[in-house]
Amino acid sequence: MIYADNAATTKMSKEAVKVMVSLMEETYGNPSSLYSIGQKAKEVLEQARADVASVIGAEPREILFTSGGSEADNQAIRSAAALGAAKGKKHIISSSFEHHAVLHTLEKLRKEGYEITLLPVHENGIIIPQEVEDAIREDTCLVTIMFANNEIGTIQPIREIGAICRSKGVLFHTDAVQAIGHVPIDVEKDNIDMLSASAHKFHGPKGTGFLYAKKGIRLSNLIEGGAQERGRRAGTENVPGIAAMAAALKETAAGMEEAAVKTAAKRDRLIKGLSEIPHAALNGDAVKRLPGNVSFCFEGIEGESLLLLLDDRGIMASSGSACTSGSLDPSHVLLAIGRVHDVAHGSLRLTISEETTDAEIEEIIAAVKEVVTYLRGFSPVWRDLTEGKAQFIL
Ligand SMILES: *Cc1c(COP(=O)(O)O)cnc(C)c1O
Repeated sequence: MIYADNAATTKMSKEAVKVMVSLMEETYGNPSSLYSIGQKAKEVLEQARADVASVIGAEPREILFTSGGSEADNQAIRSAAALGAAKGKKHIISSSFEHHAVLHTLEKLRKEGYEITLLPVHENGIIIPQEVEDAIREDTCLVTIMFANNEIGTIQPIREIGAICRSKGVLFHTDAVQAIGHVPIDVEKDNIDMLSASAHKFHGPKGTGFLYAKKGIRLSNLIEGGAQERGRRAGTENVPGIAAMAAALKETAAGMEEAAVKTAAKRDRLIKGLSEIPHAALNGDAVKRLPGNVSFCFEGIEGESLLLLLDDRGIMASSGSACTSGSLDPSHVLLAIGRVHDVAHGSLRLTISEETTDAEIEEIIAAVKEVVTYLRGFSPVWRDLTEGKAQFIL
């Protein structure tokens, strides 16, 4: 079996599993309790907060634990929107290829009377900082731009965008769920006011994540109840999950540079191999992309059939599109970079990790080549293209 869907989720690291199990078995106290195993759990929680903070150059009190990336995105955006509304500022800037946790929250805010500007991401999948600057208005309360895209892996000029927001006095949030652990992040140097992260994307457990919010930013609660997380997120803390997340993040961050170089070399081999397929194209910038992300469109095939046939051969990949969740619409990300519907339907996302071997890369290349040829063999769309009844796009 070859697992090439690390953007969907990752395998937990052995260390993270060990930490999690040990806390479940031994340190099961409620961190709000005053007796010793409660206080021990509280210590574990605060150590995890300090560890997570130090990886991104933040202070421990700037870290709020959440149930994952989606919750962090929702809370960041809702908080900035509420702060903006209090000053009569109800304009928010984002991009057209954000994760749905961002886009759907913005869609709700639009219905609540906010004005939303979604910037284009261009053919290379990268936002132009000048366009952020041009879009900022007197009444802009938030700019939210993802650090790296989850489908096509392109890395955004976050530091520049952050600097623009700072100079204009506008809050800047970034969904860094795909970036953290793969590219260096320092919230101070990168001019980030708020940042979302999710443990299961960096070898931690599912159902836990965090929101960084620069001190002084008053967060609104999504969940009301007890006084946990300085009163900003009620509910007994997921201590085992949080500690395992911190362990996974420390581990990933420590090995990041070396892993990035190794993984990027394998990624580039994969890109080179798949580029040999006729009428195929890489999605997004070839250089400014996550070390493990390979995203392609193949003309004349359906991404879903490709996935199923790859699965038969033990290769786990993704179409990187909403099709997998039962919708027939092509991916909003691929449409945002200008892929037409037919082409966007023939997409494949392979997201490898530092554990992917060279032999596996070669096996993936051979399998994709074979399966694409096979599927084109009985595709009416491909027949029309080869017979000149339709025009090739790629
Ligand atoms: C996975 C992902 C999320 C959602 O994180 P969860 O922890 O699964 O809620 C948000 N944004 C991006 C970019 C992601 O890849």
